[in-house]
Amino acid sequence: MQDRKIPYKIYLEENEMPKQWYNVRADMKNKPAPLLNPGTLKPMTAQELGHVFCDELVKQELDDTTAFIDIPEEILDFYKMYRPSPLIRAYYLEKKLDTPAKIYYKFEGNNTSGSHKLNSAIAQAYYAKKQGLKGVTTETGAGQWGTALSMACSYFDLDCKVYMVKVSYEQKPFRREVMRTYGASVTPSPSETTQVGRKILAEHPGTTGSLGCAISEAVEAATTAEGYRYVLGSVLNQVLLHQSVIGLETKAALDKYGVKADIIIGCAGGGSNLGGLIAPFMGQKLRGEADYRIIAVEPASCPSLTRGKFAYDFCDTGKVCPLAKMYTLGSGFIPSPNHAGGLRYHGMSAILSQLYDDGLIEARSVEQTSVFEAAEQFARVEGILPAPESSHAIKAAIDEALKCKETGEEKTIVFGLTGTGYFDMVAYERYHNGEMTDYIPTDEDLKPSFDALPKL
Ligand SMILES: *Cc1c(COP(=O)(O)O)cnc(C)c1O
Repeated sequence: MQDRKIPYKIYLEENEMPKQWYNVRADMKNKPAPLLNPGTLKPMTAQELGHVFCDELVKQELDDTTAFIDIPEEILDFYKMYRPSPLIRAYYLEKKLDTPAKIYYKFEGNNTSGSHKLNSAIAQAYYAKKQGLKGVTTETGAGQWGTALSMACSYFDLDCKVYMVKVSYEQKPFRREVMRTYGASVTPSPSETTQVGRKILAEHPGTTGSLGCAISEAVEAATTAEGYRYVLGSVLNQVLLHQSVIGLETKAALDKYGVKADIIIGCAGGGSNLGGLIAPFMGQKLRGEADYRIIAVEPASCPSLTRGKFAYDFCDTGKVCPLAKMYTLGSGFIPSPNHAGGLRYHGMSAILSQLYDDGLIEARSVEQTSVFEAAEQFARVEGILPAPESSHAIKAAIDEALKCKETGEEKTIVFGLTGTGYFDMVAYERYHNGEMTDYIPTDEDLKPSFDALPKL
């Protein structure tokens, strides 16, 4: 085995855990563009946002200047149930690849919901409770976010209404039942329970739903019921703020052993895990204190950063949400049905979009068969069965490590392992049976949803 001066797992002590979130916007010269009211095209005011989101979360959403925000004691207590999460040195993967690179991964799958999403779910549930609300509504695709939120809501005794994309509701009963175990009510979307759901069903009978459509329903359900607000598991500035706990712990663990990262890699769906992982490192980069290569990895079948347009767009299919300036494939974009993993949102966090546009992060897209190949390679040596989403980062980390093998460079690579893949075994099955294919949208495929971008 190689130099074992660094333990296989670096755990922080409880008293070394971050007590504040870090808001990278404070150090950004070019701030992310504000959300716009789709009616007036003016920036959304706190009052307008307050109809949809909890007051404290609205404050966080609009705060471009406060660098550090205290994590309330109740949230810290909950974090302690499953954090700090380990930073693991991938000694076995390094050996298998025979690379001089040093690879680390931050593992966020060690909680019942199986992903990093709990870091923000608990914060959003806390602020809803503190405001005296009865409950929250949300959407979920495959179910990770819904699961995390139902856990957080049961902890604070809040009602939790989840609109679950219909195809997942039918094909992925296990996460649905986890949510119900934690007391959430789960409705397949589109549904007859909302106006926008009925409209979508009338226009597209037999539709199996999409995230954008479930968002529209969840927002309507929150804004039409007394004592409810809507919560979202990714994309928003507030979510990236909460997820900064990932990066802060990672940095503290590396600093503890005097390790400096060269390359930081994360998968990118709506951008929350990547935004959280890179936050303190990007802060250093923005302040000119250190430099890192930062790589966002997205599916070739849903390539918002690498092929999208940087424009104001709707966040949802029903066009009831504010407009966000982001890299987007257009709110009408739906990935091809053979796309297995998550990371299927049409847009990208405004913060990451701005950083990418400013040339501060790189992006690449990878095809799903190569992602599952990397997932399997990783599982066989490191033991953890990774989520397909996380495996996009694994694929890029392996590629970078193999480049180091060619050049002989001993780079330090850090990647985010966002979760476990136990509920994704149908996709693994398709891969093992050789039934998984890659579909990369053509320019013609993308054109209709680009053409439908709002013209401001
Ligand atoms: C939701 C999810 C992602 C992608 O979401 P981001 O907001 O881009 O982080 C990645 N990995 C896992 C395991 C997830 O559940």
